[in-house]
Amino acid sequence: MENEKKTVTMEKIISLAKQRGFVFPGSEIYGGLQNAWDFGPLGVELKNNIKAAWWKRFVSHRGDMVGIEAALLMNTRVWEASGHISNFSDPLVECEKCHHRFRADTLDGDKCPDCGGSFMEAQQFNLMLKTSLGATADKANEVYFRPETAQGMFVNFKNIIDSTRKKLPFGIAQIGKAFRNEITPGNYIFRTREFEQMEIEYFIPLPKNDAEWEEYFEAWRKEMHEWMTDLGIKPDDIHELDVPKEDLAHYSKKTIDFEYDFPFGRKELYGLAYRTDFDLKNHGEKSGANLKYKDAETGEEYYPHVIEPTFGVERSVLAAMCSAYTEEKVGSGGSEEGEEDMRVVMKFPKWLAPVKVAVLPLSKKDELSSVAKKIATELRESFTTDYDETQSIGKRYRRQDEIGTPYCVTVDFETLNDNAVTVRDRDTMKQERIAVSDLKKYLAEKLAE
Ligand code: ATP
Repeated sequence: MENEKKTVTMEKIISLAKQRGFVFPGSEIYGGLQNAWDFGPLGVELKNNIKAAWWKRFVSHRGDMVGIEAALLMNTRVWEASGHISNFSDPLVECEKCHHRFRADTLDGDKCPDCGGSFMEAQQFNLMLKTSLGATADKANEVYFRPETAQGMFVNFKNIIDSTRKKLPFGIAQIGKAFRNEITPGNYIFRTREFEQMEIEYFIPLPKNDAEWEEYFEAWRKEMHEWMTDLGIKPDDIHELDVPKEDLAHYSKKTIDFEYDFPFGRKELYGLAYRTDFDLKNHGEKSGANLKYKDAETGEEYYPHVIEPTFGVERSVLAAMCSAYTEEKVGSGGSEEGEEDMRVVMKFPKWLAPVKVAVLPLSKKDELSSVAKKIATELRESFTTDYDETQSIGKRYRRQDEIGTPYCVTVDFETLNDNAVTVRDRDTMKQERIAVSDLKKYLAEKLAE
């Protein structure tokens, strides 16, 4: 649209999200807790829509994928074998003067950004979050919350093969919480200590040369781009970073970070890694379990190799919100004289919008509201439906625009005579008169576009 502006800032997103019920500061009435956030009524719909679409696309709709849900707490030997106990750390520096701590690899200079003091020598800080099981809090009962969902897929590899008889290539997917004791959580929901991941471990036959794993890697790279486009992210806002050899995670032979232009800079949204046979081999050798795959035709036994596409749920929410945020000039309708009438509209793809339809009676009078409520009840069977009868119709439209509701259904006095309602389109703001008896079908078709 000609009058569209894209002046998205974190302040605007955070304020809209709080005001409208997407995201609230965690434990707010007690002063919060170090960048913890709670998802409100609209935020949880957004998250659920993302997770459901991801699952449908990458699990249910494919014949080569199965899902699992592993426990968040796992035997400590898992983390010894996976290399997380010895390697999953970030370099930490502490200021000699104010004792504030920072991740050394994210600092620009060699002085403390808070007080200008010098740093003590950097140490490696392990990012796994500890807790203890049972009544005695001694070392023997210490366990870690999983820092990634991936290991749940590797340790269940044999169970999956035995129970599903899947043949290579195939993948295991999981959506769930992960915990990292980040040194400096921040940038809103971008980096928190508790977050959700959607991960796939895609097991492939033993590659005889690079081309044989590169083919799968490339296929997943494309899949990830398509997913990002469907989330409403413009391809121009995504940048691939081929992670340099010296920065690769301990298990990876090749990694691409998909970076998004967040308002606070270009940062990792998702990752795609070639994990080789690192995990299955280590677990097989350290646990004694037979995690090799036996090729039914050739009789050959080997550890399959793995391509891992990984997606953060909160980063998906944030990128989708930043991409959807739009300010538009819409003329003088309803505004004071001389004042430009601006609207904020979240142009979420329709499948992603937390509320699909809003039913708005023009008056609170019972003769209208009873009809409108009945329509809302019927629509609710098929779509997430909001009902709002307070304030002027203009303000109610603005509110729905701000939460990204694709369609508003207005019930007016004419409805009592013609049994029809006005349907307003979020993006074009065009209105159409639709018979109440056709409304559900009309909306279903429009929402599927
Ligand atoms: P970063 O470099 O930002 O710390 P990472 O490379 O350690 O991230 P991965 O280990 O690849 O991240 O994790 C997979 C995905 O999980 C990331 O692409 C991201 O979407 C998400 N993620 C990782 N850490 C966090 C966090 N602290 N908060 C929210 N999401 C996270």
